[in-house]
Amino acid sequence: MTVETHAFQAEVKQVLHLVIHSLYSNKDIFLRELVSNASDACDKLRFEAIRQPELLGDDSTLAIDIRFDADARTVTIADNGIGMSRDELAEHLGTIARSGTKKFLENLSENDKSNAQLIGQFGVGFYSAFIVADRVSVTSRRAGSDEAWTWESSADGEFTLAGADRATRGTTIVLHLREGEDEYLNGWKLRSLVHKYSEHIDFPIRLPAEKAGEEGDGDESDELETVNEATALWTRARSEISDDEYKAFYKHVSGDFGDPLVWTHNRVEGNQNFTSLLYVPAKAPFDFMGGGRDERKGLKLYIKRVFIMDAAEQMLPPYLRFVRGVVDSDDLPLNVSRELLQSSRQVERIKGALTKRAIDLLEKLAREEPERYAGFWKEFGGVLKEGVADDPSSAERLMKLLRFPSTQSAGPDELVALEQYVERMKPGQDAIYYLTADGWNAARNSPQLEALKARGIEVLLMHERIDEWMAGYLTRFADKPFRNVAKGELDLDALEGADDAGTRAKREEAAKAAEPVVEKIKAALGERVKEVKVSSRLTDSASCLVLGEYDMALHMQRLLKAAGQ
Ligand code: ADP
Ligand code: MG
Repeated sequence: MTVETHAFQAEVKQVLHLVIHSLYSNKDIFLRELVSNASDACDKLRFEAIRQPELLGDDSTLAIDIRFDADARTVTIADNGIGMSRDELAEHLGTIARSGTKKFLENLSENDKSNAQLIGQFGVGFYSAFIVADRVSVTSRRAGSDEAWTWESSADGEFTLAGADRATRGTTIVLHLREGEDEYLNGWKLRSLVHKYSEHIDFPIRLPAEKAGEEGDGDESDELETVNEATALWTRARSEISDDEYKAFYKHVSGDFGDPLVWTHNRVEGNQNFTSLLYVPAKAPFDFMGGGRDERKGLKLYIKRVFIMDAAEQMLPPYLRFVRGVVDSDDLPLNVSRELLQSSRQVERIKGALTKRAIDLLEKLAREEPERYAGFWKEFGGVLKEGVADDPSSAERLMKLLRFPSTQSAGPDELVALEQYVERMKPGQDAIYYLTADGWNAARNSPQLEALKARGIEVLLMHERIDEWMAGYLTRFADKPFRNVAKGELDLDALEGADDAGTRAKREEAAKAAEPVVEKIKAALGERVKEVKVSSRLTDSASCLVLGEYDMALHMQRLLKAAGQ
């Protein structure tokens, strides 16, 4: 039989190198990743079998079998799921298609200790097999095909493909353990890893049965027994599920390496019956911001416990695209298509309920654990801001979740909520003042702030890229209007109180005295400005540019000019 040799894509080589060198202290995770893939493969088969029952044939008990051979020093993970064709083997195990991968890898340095964390956010998946194995062979037969192929590699830059024999559909992965990794040639060890990481995979995970009177290693019987609970986690009662179980399940659904920040697990009964288990990650995946608004994974739709598809786009609004988890509906038809999901009123209702749940969860976190909420905001605040504009029906609640630095902050990370801002408004202050700018320093040093600073009025400093656009949708909060300090007249007189009547008179006098100067400046600037005015806006600077109430922000004008508009 001929053996073809293929080179890995350059990115795969780098990922392999990183995984092997950064994740050694977490090496146990290889089993979780391979079992997770086997479970996904069984899910996919069960889904395809809805339309093509013959794919299941007489092999309808989907399961994941783990064996080891102490003499050959191998651990084997086999499933009877969907399998892979020759081309799928080459593509799925030889390339990385995710956008932004190259850039991500360039930013990692050789000896950086944080690489383990970063590569975790990347999602290591199949390649984690090479942490413990120096040679991996994958033999697979796609459901519905009678061809089998073996993919094999020693992580040295290339892999081989060769025709193979496999009597039935599915995938078998053989790990040839590295020197010193013999601890995995042990039934007890493998069992404990299954319990720890894969207890609630919805398929039986089977290991060689322990013979009475034996300690696990040595001679195991050929008979297999199921070692995990094998029930979908979300179908169990909340009170029976431990935090560790929720966390382990999160890693399976999200591909994330770290723990989730928070989660919410609910059963809804009424005219729609469904269960949801939603997680908020602690860290954004590496390609989260670069991935764009359309590329979304992470919310799995099940119907009556059968995995249907990744349906984040249909089940959650774009500004909640960081949410991961599972929705399991009792009522949707098993044969739903993506198109049907898009137009279904049932789905629309579920989406509404999930949106509410997710916002509830964030509100609770913000209220009860402000420091952890700040961590969330740092990772995903920029995305949540989109909701203020995109989802008018939730805008009121979302506004309470916004956080900004202000003129009272020592740095860009010291943030204030709108409720807090309103609470500490000056007597007589009737608006929420904000400034938008393209960067923290530009915002902080803006001459537009001088008059407000002089009066001790706090101004929100919106210095992120999305803020200018979002601010256009901020109209009122707690009955107070928003006012952009760079636009139109700032009516600050009300704030000065009766005692300041003298100041006002003085200012009017000063304005009169300045009239000849104003006329001169007007003549010099001519058409380039609309108006020249004496202002109470400044205390230190001699002059500043002010926009008309409806003009575009200065940095937006600059951006458009740079883009040739
Ligand atoms: P992910 O699971 O996040 O997609 P992995 O690196 O874990 O990434 O796996 C890469 C791909 O290889 C999977 O998406 C799947 O298409 C394929 N694959 C891996 N293991 C199996 C398996 N046991 N059966 C079928 N396909 C598999
Ligand atoms: Mg995987």
